[in-house]
Amino acid sequence: MTRAGLTGGIGSGKSTVSALLSSYGAVIIDSDRIAREVVEPGTKGLAAVVAEFGTGILLPDGTLDRPALGSIVFADPDRLRALNSIVHPLVRDRSAHLEAAAGPDTLVIHDVPLLAENGLAPLYDSVIVVDASPENQLDRLVRLRGMSEDEARARMAAQASREDRLAIADFVIDNDGPRDALEPQVRKIWEALRG
Ligand code: ADP
Repeated sequence: MTRAGLTGGIGSGKSTVSALLSSYGAVIIDSDRIAREVVEPGTKGLAAVVAEFGTGILLPDGTLDRPALGSIVFADPDRLRALNSIVHPLVRDRSAHLEAAAGPDTLVIHDVPLLAENGLAPLYDSVIVVDASPENQLDRLVRLRGMSEDEARARMAAQASREDRLAIADFVIDNDGPRDALEPQVRKIWEALRG
């Protein structure tokens, strides 16, 4: 098994690359999705978050009120650390479980948006970074994803810089070109990594 981390700034094209790798046969472990699953109603994750932050972070239907929790943790680094100390170990356990279920000859891709921000590069055999200029990120978020320009700029500013991400890359995918230019680059990495 080869284990690679895949990351990229918001709007860089990481999901598009992840879908291509999956179509070739890689097993994708999506950390954002797992982070949502571990705090679904009925989980011990959600119980721990409620114990820490109170029932005010629940919606009437018992699901997590993400904006309410976000407004607490993004205003206070200590509260963010408290949340992460609940969620991160659960995500790690679930990821390890999914990885163990993948076959021995598999290329496992850990899709981790905040890989650079959280210093996670040492966890993987190699790191793939999807790189795009901030101008292209912004354009895709606003034009294709319907985000407001202010929201897109704020999300981008909260992430690692392009340089910080490139500094941890073993493989860089240049996604400043047309979408068609992705396929050959991704295929080359797939061939290099699956051995
Ligand atoms: P991420 O997962 O990094 O946030 P996505 O893969 O969702 O980014 O890409 C953001 C948007 O840009 C999507 O609508 C996607 O279809 C589009 N996109 C990705 N790569 C390109 C490209 N090279 N040219 C034009 N649009 C692209």
